[in-house]
Amino acid sequence: PSREDVYYYGAGPAPLPTPVLEEASKVILNYNDSGMGIAEISHRSADANAILAKAQSGLRQLLDIPESDGPDGYQILFLHGGGSGEFSAVVYNMVSVWIAKQLKAVGGDETKLAEVVQQKLKMDYLVTGSWSLKASQEAARLVGGEHVNIVTDARKHRDGKFGLVPDKSTWNVTSDNDSCTFTYYCDNETVDGVEFPSPPSGHNLVADMSSNFLSRAVDVKKHAVIFGGAQKNVGTTGITIAIIKNEFLPPHAEYADPKVLRKLGLPSGPIVLDWPTIAKNNSLYNTLPIFDVWIAGQVMERLLAMHPASGGARIAGQENESNQKAHLLYSALDNNPTVYSVVPDKTARSRMNICFRIKGGDADAEKAFLKGAEAKGLLGLKGHRSVGGIRCSNYNAVPIAAAEKLAAYLQDFAKA
Ligand code: PLP
Repeated sequence: PSREDVYYYGAGPAPLPTPVLEEASKVILNYNDSGMGIAEISHRSADANAILAKAQSGLRQLLDIPESDGPDGYQILFLHGGGSGEFSAVVYNMVSVWIAKQLKAVGGDETKLAEVVQQKLKMDYLVTGSWSLKASQEAARLVGGEHVNIVTDARKHRDGKFGLVPDKSTWNVTSDNDSCTFTYYCDNETVDGVEFPSPPSGHNLVADMSSNFLSRAVDVKKHAVIFGGAQKNVGTTGITIAIIKNEFLPPHAEYADPKVLRKLGLPSGPIVLDWPTIAKNNSLYNTLPIFDVWIAGQVMERLLAMHPASGGARIAGQENESNQKAHLLYSALDNNPTVYSVVPDKTARSRMNICFRIKGGDADAEKAFLKGAEAKGLLGLKGHRSVGGIRCSNYNAVPIAAAEKLAAYLQDFAKA
């Protein structure tokens, strides 16, 4: 089939808007009439710097990211290593800042510091799906399980399976802010179809927004760090975006000397995940895939155009569209309750990853559904291998027409 014949609802790499792909196919060959393709230009060139600045400015406008050199401003970094790389980077960097602060508090006494680490170091994780679970496991691998505090494990509230955000009254939060290095959550759980209705509160809040980035407004100021891989809603696989509050970057924060960390048995991360190094070099510490940044900049330009008003977050146009598409699909599912059952609880349904079962998980019915969908050019609907079922990933590049076509198929299949 040709591109116009199919709609793709895969979890990522996600499709890109066709006009972006058409333009990309031209610049791959010849960027800006330079005779050189964009993937060939140096990341140190003026062109590359302009591409980077455009993507940073687009993101700032879309999410209304505070820009100042003071501790309350935020920097935008482009990194390697994907969302998984940031699972580790969050731990390396936030723990390093915490240790430097504690060392100061004990007047530089390293023996006392070792005691403080044993007694106080905690990282709070809200486990609401398989990605936040993985992130918490990485923290335990790097620093030790005794320092990971599971604020909530959603499986314990629902027959051992993910599918909701437990009520806040049940959370076990580290109450001493001086102990709590950060509070981590995954805003949208891609595999389980669970999305936070609104951000939780927490000390030094860190959010993984890999699979719902740029699909709704976010109160950036509530967060210490927001990160996400580009490959779902922002562009091509290869860059990870991190929005980091200046309070956690030099000169506003000190980082612990790796020698001190080593003595404490704590890790210091690889230089490519070291936020201060990446920030100091405006994301160009090492070779950045400029083509991926260019794609992200093009996607952002299109999102900005959907909501041309100035002032405030300019993501509202895309947010409306995301809500509209999710509503179409969930309505088609809810209208046929004898055939379809949505996996997560109604209170935490993801607008991005719509996970459901057919006839309670009947293998033949689900196979028939996928086969029928494929015949209509509706691709990528198989659920994640770990949970099965059907998953429709409803990312930004999926047009409303695609949601309408899938909603119509859901109705037809149920009738048949
Ligand atoms: N976080 C979420 C929410 C994801 O959906 C994914 C991947 O799908 C990841 C993290 C891991 O991202 P990566 O594969 O870029 O390491």
